[in-house]
Amino acid sequence: MSRFVYADHAATTALSDTALNAMLPYLKEEYGNPSSLYRFAGRAKAALEQARADVAACLNAKPEEIYFTSGGTESDNWALRGVAELRGKKGKHIITSAIEHHAVLHTAQYLEKQGFEVTYLPVDAQGRVSPADVEAALRPDTILVSIMAANNEIGTIQPIGEIGAIARRAGVLFHTDAVQAVGHIPVDVEAWNVDLLSLSGHKFHGPKGVGVLYMRKPLRLPPLIHGGGQEKGRRSGTENVAGAVGLAAALKEAAAGLETEAPRLCALRDRLIDGLLQIPKSRLTGPRDGRLPGSASFVFECIEGESILLRLDNAGICSSSGSACSSASLDPSHVLLAIGLPHEIAHGSVRLTLGRENTDADVDYLLETVPKVVAGLREMSPLWEG
Ligand SMILES: *Cc1c(COP(=O)(O)O)cnc(C)c1O
Repeated sequence: MSRFVYADHAATTALSDTALNAMLPYLKEEYGNPSSLYRFAGRAKAALEQARADVAACLNAKPEEIYFTSGGTESDNWALRGVAELRGKKGKHIITSAIEHHAVLHTAQYLEKQGFEVTYLPVDAQGRVSPADVEAALRPDTILVSIMAANNEIGTIQPIGEIGAIARRAGVLFHTDAVQAVGHIPVDVEAWNVDLLSLSGHKFHGPKGVGVLYMRKPLRLPPLIHGGGQEKGRRSGTENVAGAVGLAAALKEAAAGLETEAPRLCALRDRLIDGLLQIPKSRLTGPRDGRLPGSASFVFECIEGESILLRLDNAGICSSSGSACSSASLDPSHVLLAIGLPHEIAHGSVRLTLGRENTDADVDYLLETVPKVVAGLREMSPLWEG
């Protein structure tokens, strides 16, 4: 079995050649510290500022609204904890959803321990947050609404523009974790009415360990990371120049290719979904339409997602089961429970996320392999009655 199919693009993506080549000078000869005053370091500083301008242009933001961080997790932490610190005297109520990434959920739980009150909005069977629910949950003491733009497990794209408009009208700050959206669907901070937006380089073929928090002017969150005062005093630490340059190059490349790549991936994804739904007692998780271009996610009754994953790995296929992020626990994914799946069915979840290097031949191989693996495991399952 020599075939290798990487179908876990929601977990991470390969660094693109464009991003790597843009980074190389800043990993080698252009190693100056952007804060130093000589011209040699000025070139690193200029590259960092060009990266900031390029990221801003891709989001319809201003360069001064872009802050580089260590990734999506830090950006999410900063957004929630920053607003809590900034507005905590005005109110202690935060609205988020039940299907957020743990970077948001665990930060919200941390804030609950600090005396904040958090409403976790439910979602419908497709994983959608209703804008009317957001509106109904608003209170005079609400200081923040945080709803992810697209879900990492089931691909659901949220009505972010509508939710943002509701928050804006109520004078409440709005954050979106757009880590799965940026580089994959059009993102526009104006159209979306967002005040804060998180993104991460490695989810769109940039490097790992670098992300961005977009902060709408004149909003100025207090820093999460204290120190030498980099990023206008908001995020200290010597700048990851190569990382920022690589993130910006990858984002520009993804944005430029979006118009052709998104429909190509949608076609591959739909063929994969149609094919795998032929498997008896299988269902799609998340919506049929209104999902991320490369995202296909399923539950197969009477088997464990982890055992499918291991067999697929033996066949050269990289996949994920919904519970990958909490593999230490036996609980099924909070997302699958939130869309109303019973525990025993949620255990049989498999996520296949396609991306730039996947081809029609990869989908053929998935369509040939996954049904065999599912049938093989079911034969061994005491729960399966054919
Ligand atoms: C991957 C991911 C994150 C975390 O980003 P890192 O850069 O890996 O810290 C946050 N939110 C979502 C939705 C993600 O998919």
